[in-house]
Amino acid sequence: MCILVKKTEKKYSIATLGSHCSLQILKGAKDEGFRTLLICEKRRLGLYKRFNFIDDMIVVDKFNEISNETCQQHLRETNSIIIPHGSMIAYMSREEIEKITTPFFGNKWIIRWEADRKLKQKLMQDALLDTPRYIGSKENIERLCIVKLHGAAGGRGYFLAWNKESFEEGAKTLIEREVIKNEDDLYIQEYVNGVPTYLQFFYSPVTNVLEFMGVDRRYESDIDGLGRIPAKQQLAIEMQPTYNVIGNIPLVLRESLLEEVYAMGERFVKTARYLVPPGMTGPFCIEGVYDKEGKFTTFEFSARIVAGTNLYLDGSPYSGLIFDKPMSMGRRIAHEIKIASKQGRINDILT
Ligand code: ADP
Repeated sequence: MCILVKKTEKKYSIATLGSHCSLQILKGAKDEGFRTLLICEKRRLGLYKRFNFIDDMIVVDKFNEISNETCQQHLRETNSIIIPHGSMIAYMSREEIEKITTPFFGNKWIIRWEADRKLKQKLMQDALLDTPRYIGSKENIERLCIVKLHGAAGGRGYFLAWNKESFEEGAKTLIEREVIKNEDDLYIQEYVNGVPTYLQFFYSPVTNVLEFMGVDRRYESDIDGLGRIPAKQQLAIEMQPTYNVIGNIPLVLRESLLEEVYAMGERFVKTARYLVPPGMTGPFCIEGVYDKEGKFTTFEFSARIVAGTNLYLDGSPYSGLIFDKPMSMGRRIAHEIKIASKQGRINDILT
């Protein structure tokens, strides 16, 4: 099923999938004067109908229907630009995303680099970001490690291992629950102790400027709930904590850390430009841990808007330093489309 529910016709529509940070994206688009379109799963219509800034909807049974010709046709009719976010990456394969013929905000080829651990590691290392040590085999686990699944899973299924036995035990549980097929589906990484921090950037190819837009930390179940249980009971219940993201908490950094934050962002943009042309257009996030010396170790990046930006609908302590009006990341995207289109450079920000 793929039905277009449309009010009237106008210039560009800003379109996205109904999930993750779609409300922020479409509110920002409306504030910048665009028409808005939501690709909405039928089961979520009740939620999204509440918001007046959503003009049109394409109603689908499942998100991956958007690579179908009928949906693509609806998106063309509405002159839509599609804005990717984390749910698009989670619910659609890289091939399905790359097949989308609707103009795509940012670089659709970089999604492959986000989803593939080897490519991701290459981009981070070429950008001279410090990364946690990769442990190639369970035989080499000698200290605390975090064991991950491939792709963006929102931390779901991750577990801690400190030797071969604890790794095998964690892997066995995931195999029994049919989350993975075998141990090869897992990626072992050194655990970095400190404060997990998510650095939110926007790079504009139109102005050639990198903007640091905000920072957050994630609130994860059930690792963040563990501190509420005294040590004796923790030992008794033998709990294996998971890292499933439930929400986000705002953060501001010590000002002395900002210079390195910009330097990391700039190295990332420069590296993405030669590794994955046309490079890192629009929002991205460098994700890692600050240790007790204030040194940052990067464990991940997201090459598109992250849900932590939902905190800053009215701007953040950092976007407020750059813009004279409340500027969410969603609105910043729409603003970029506006200036690129005014300057006849729309093709510089789309793929
Ligand atoms: P996803 O990409 O699936 O969202 P992340 O790689 O962001 O998952 O990891 C989920 C969570 O796991 C992080 O927010 C952080 O709390 C924790 N984490 C990930 N890698 C490390 C690491 N190397 N050291 C310590 N904690 C980590």
